[in-house]
Amino acid sequence: MKLFTVGPVEMYPETLAIRNLQIPYFRTDEFSKLMLENAAMLKELIGTNNDSKCAFITGSGSAAMEAVVSNCFGKNDKLLIINGGSFGERFVKICQIYNISYDEVKLNFGETLTNAKLSLFFDNEYTALLVNIDETSTGQLYDIHLLQDFCQKKKMKLIVDAISSFLSDFYEMDKMNIDCSIISSQKALALAPGLSMIVMNNTFYHEKVENREPANLYLNIQEHVKNMERGQTPNTPAVGICFELHQRLMEIKAMGVENHVKMIHQRAEYFREKARLIGLNIPTYPLSNTLTPIIFEEGNAKEIYNILVNKYNLMVTPNGGALADTVLRVGHIGNLKTEDFDLLLDKMKELI
Ligand SMILES: *Cc1c(COP(=O)(O)O)cnc(C)c1O
Repeated sequence: MKLFTVGPVEMYPETLAIRNLQIPYFRTDEFSKLMLENAAMLKELIGTNNDSKCAFITGSGSAAMEAVVSNCFGKNDKLLIINGGSFGERFVKICQIYNISYDEVKLNFGETLTNAKLSLFFDNEYTALLVNIDETSTGQLYDIHLLQDFCQKKKMKLIVDAISSFLSDFYEMDKMNIDCSIISSQKALALAPGLSMIVMNNTFYHEKVENREPANLYLNIQEHVKNMERGQTPNTPAVGICFELHQRLMEIKAMGVENHVKMIHQRAEYFREKARLIGLNIPTYPLSNTLTPIIFEEGNAKEIYNILVNKYNLMVTPNGGALADTVLRVGHIGNLKTEDFDLLLDKMKELI
């Protein structure tokens, strides 16, 4: 099976080799050193300074989203959420569960986030804006400059779920005035699922996290940050993925993060150009390099997905909910080559 999914994705042989090794005990100086190096490399690649804090959460990306909302905000806060799909909706649900007030900038499928839509909320008071910068359910890449500008003018904190955008799209946390970034192991890092990272700048951490009453135990960011001072986590982390992460970060650092982004960008451009030539319908809103959504107006998306999997061992990403019959997504991240996209395009051409 070849995965054109958005996570888990095709993993690299180096990662698979590490997965094969015995997991060591982790309360050791060696493991602390590995984690401190992970944090330092991550901060460098995400474009933040060394004073920023890094928390490693053992859990999928949603655990990190929940940790951020519940540990950084409370009853005196009001948040603005960009909700243009199922990941925006997840932020909404987390706020509901933790009783944190919010407004939503709601986008229907196909609608672009514009200044006009965002401006409607300009006169309200908010503590922070929450956005999934690539809304993975639609592939829309929101305009970070628009959001950054809005937050700067309103003196709001900017929280970015970059889980499906980091390493695929240009991202520089400090330059983009992003206060907190959320990332996860199974997307462009191409690791096993189960490890998520929260990177916060020092000011944000001191103002919003450090002195707050804990809202939970396992996701308590203060405990994670305190433990990370010595390269440790409060509980047993996904030790194996921490080793996989170290290898990948070294690799990406060596190739240069901008070259990694360029590589994924080239894959996306290659696929999109050929896909349009064979008549596939790609939406016109701004797209992340991570994936290409394809619209099947006749409602045969599921059928095409099934044939690709069952007959050709090619797994693209189906959509859930309202878009299940009309949208498929083709991922461009992980260990994929031009020939893989050629094969997929050939088979898709046959089917439509
Ligand atoms: C994958 C992803 C997540 C995490 O989802 P999990 O199912 O918890 O792994 C969160 N946000 C975005 C934008 C994602 O793409």
